[in-house]
Amino acid sequence: MRHIPFTVDGHQGMARATTLELERGTIQTPVFMPVGTQAAVRSVTPLHLHGTGAQIILANTYHLSQRPGEDLVEKAGGLHKFMGTHLPILTDSGGFQVFSLDKTVDEDGVTFQYEVDGEKTFLSPERSMDIQQKLGADIAMVFDECIAFGTERKYAEASVARTTRWEKRSKEAHTRPDQSLFGIVQGGFWPDLRKRSAEEIAEIGFDGYAVGGLSVGEGHQKMCDVLDVTTEHMPWDSPRYLMGVGRPLDLVEAVARGIDMFDCVIQTRHARSGVMWTWHGRMRVTDKRYRKDFRPIDDKCTCYTCTNFSRAYLHHLFKVGEIMAATLASVHNIAWFQQYMAAMRMSILDGSFESFRKNVHEIYPEGEPANPEGSGKPKSRAGKGGAKRSRGGRGGRGGPKGGKPRQR
Ligand SMILES: [Zn+2]
Repeated sequence: MRHIPFTVDGHQGMARATTLELERGTIQTPVFMPVGTQAAVRSVTPLHLHGTGAQIILANTYHLSQRPGEDLVEKAGGLHKFMGTHLPILTDSGGFQVFSLDKTVDEDGVTFQYEVDGEKTFLSPERSMDIQQKLGADIAMVFDECIAFGTERKYAEASVARTTRWEKRSKEAHTRPDQSLFGIVQGGFWPDLRKRSAEEIAEIGFDGYAVGGLSVGEGHQKMCDVLDVTTEHMPWDSPRYLMGVGRPLDLVEAVARGIDMFDCVIQTRHARSGVMWTWHGRMRVTDKRYRKDFRPIDDKCTCYTCTNFSRAYLHHLFKVGEIMAATLASVHNIAWFQQYMAAMRMSILDGSFESFRKNVHEIYPEGEPANPEGSGKPKSRAGKGGAKRSRGGRGGRGGPKGGKPRQR
């Protein structure tokens, strides 16, 4: 296990701005990590990815072990070489992916059918470590059991105890000296189980600690409730990572509760259907109202897409089914979340985090409705006699008209 030099640069309450020194790069948190499930961030070339300001990306152990197989990736020279990126990479352990499949769990590990060809497959702490060490990411994750939302208490108790044993086994099986290893806290929705798991995992000792078992359909408030009773039991002097969470409101509230690192697929998944996040709210560029809108997606965004293309152009690309639409939309979403996290970091360092947080609540209230205009203050639309917020809502009327097309 490679120790990551880690500093807390500043904090406001539980919210922290930290720095992780990885060999391939320095990471400043709070950080959002784009996901490259299949050793590729979908539709985004590394060249564009590097231009988004992404500091570290994710790849999936479960998927890559199936196709192309970890031996092939190792033969190719490791994940970085294989996928052509110099960015630090974090691989998950596969635990989260298999939890949703039809499976048998015993002390040894998990047996399940591979979703593509139905072949019987086995994952265990040792197997997961073997795969991850061959993939060669900068940060590996322990193999844990992610229990479903609504699991009964008795099972959850046994599962937390087993996860602790699995994490010990993960640490024993992990021998790669240039790779860091993070533990994962489980415990479902029970405060005492979260506390127990957090303490047991800290006791084993890892280079960072993740909160697992969230983003399983529990909703924003429940997620906050669990973090409230979890992060206080996690070491202050190590990075903390909340797995699978990535909406603006979830991010700011998790940071307020002491989380530093995040990953999520919605940025790229939603981009492919034209949904984009901006400082004005979420917008769907396929809406009719953007057909002749020559402004950038977000006039504050500095990404390649916003610097070079208009809403009208993206609208057109989506309408004609041009695959570049997915690329340009994904580039914007990834870049916007980098800018969003950087602004959050600044607010922690300069003491304005609470006002930043309040502002996020205004732009992205719970439920995160799409902004019908894609511009202007969300307040103004609330006053429009209950105008439809849904993306199906009528476009043209009351739409943006004063906005100046961006010239260059
Ligand atoms: Zn942009």
